Amino acid sequence: MSNVLIINCGSSSIKFALLLKEQNFRIHGLAENLGTPEARIKGVTLGNQPVDIKIPNADHKEALEVGLSRLANHKPDAIGHRIVHGGTLTQAELITDEIVDVIRQATPLAPLHNPAHLVGIEATKRLFPDLPQVAVFDTAFHQTMPAHAYRYAVPKFLYTEHNVRRYGFHGTSHAYVSERGSELAGSFKQGGWLTAHLGNGSSTCAIWNGESVDTSMGLTPLEGLVMGTRSGDVDPSLHRFLEANLGWDIYKIDKMLNSQSGLLGLSNLSNDMRTLIEASEQGNEDATLAIEVFCYRLAKSLAALSCGLPRLDGLFFTGGIGENSAYIREKTLGYLPHFGFNLSIDANNNLKRGTEGRIDAGTGPQIWVVPTDEEGRIAQETENVVNGIYTTKKTEQDAVVA
Ligand code: AMP
Repeated sequence: MSNVLIINCGSSSIKFALLLKEQNFRIHGLAENLGTPEARIKGVTLGNQPVDIKIPNADHKEALEVGLSRLANHKPDAIGHRIVHGGTLTQAELITDEIVDVIRQATPLAPLHNPAHLVGIEATKRLFPDLPQVAVFDTAFHQTMPAHAYRYAVPKFLYTEHNVRRYGFHGTSHAYVSERGSELAGSFKQGGWLTAHLGNGSSTCAIWNGESVDTSMGLTPLEGLVMGTRSGDVDPSLHRFLEANLGWDIYKIDKMLNSQSGLLGLSNLSNDMRTLIEASEQGNEDATLAIEVFCYRLAKSLAALSCGLPRLDGLFFTGGIGENSAYIREKTLGYLPHFGFNLSIDANNNLKRGTEGRIDAGTGPQIWVVPTDEEGRIAQETENVVNGIYTTKKTEQDAVVA
């Protein structure tokens, strides 16, 4: 197989990438504002020419048709769909009617994402009826978590009858980064590692011998760390407080916690870490506090997740912030001195943007920066499924969601 098309469908947008294996090249495109007069496709051609095509009122299928017609001779051999929620499925799966049902039934757990993914699957099926299509789930990597890590301390029937449990997300990133990182460290998929995926959405993960044993996100991607616009953990009684004192309903509270909180809420300025670092340097106290809360809460999460590991070999930073901000890495590690982390200030500051590298001073747990490659991982998993490397291994828990 040489060309894999990766589709990441949102409610009004589609990110797509065609990975041309033989040429070791990727073509990227973004269709946005779908279903509105402003719908358009942006991307770059193989010759690195920018593309900006207006497609007024186009839906997902039309956008894919227009976008993919520009790929000239580079036709895909298989399609990999990034799917946020796969319930309790443990691995990527060939898309069949049964898998479409699982994605549909997990919709209450990812109401913004899963319906859009189904639209994308339908569109690509109509466009490429003969190509194998694979669903790669953000949740699958975390299905190895033990029950004591994934269960909430709420009445049991909420789990058994309504699937209320921790699932975890960013699985393709944590899987890729921990595999690549442990390979760089000379212990491929061995030992105990922490990963910090820090971008607009952020999460941590504890990995033992290549398997996720705990992660910071839960039932939904709101739990855990401070993110761009998401609050992460709050006291669940905040809901009652806001209802009783401000008269807010649950939808308003949910919107506030998902879209108006996190770095944006704390700083009252921006969800973008670069903007906040610049503002902080210019004396903006709210930006300074937002950065401090972000780093402290991240350190707390890493410390907590280390309880899932029999031994701590090291930490991998990834995501837009984790890969690019020496300042955030240093500040976070400053809250973890008792773990013996020994950051090399020079190695940390001198690591070139977008490169992988070790940044500890040679004693204590290792510290690495490993740029994530979710697309590459989705393409690899798609190939594995199509080539039949995965056998379908269902767990008892599939019955809970399916
Ligand atoms: P992602 O969602 O992984 O694309 O990451 C986006 C986040 O990475 C945004 O908050 C950016 O401000 C942040 N980011 C990118 N480059 C840098 C940088 N050099 N320093 C700090 N934050 C950065």
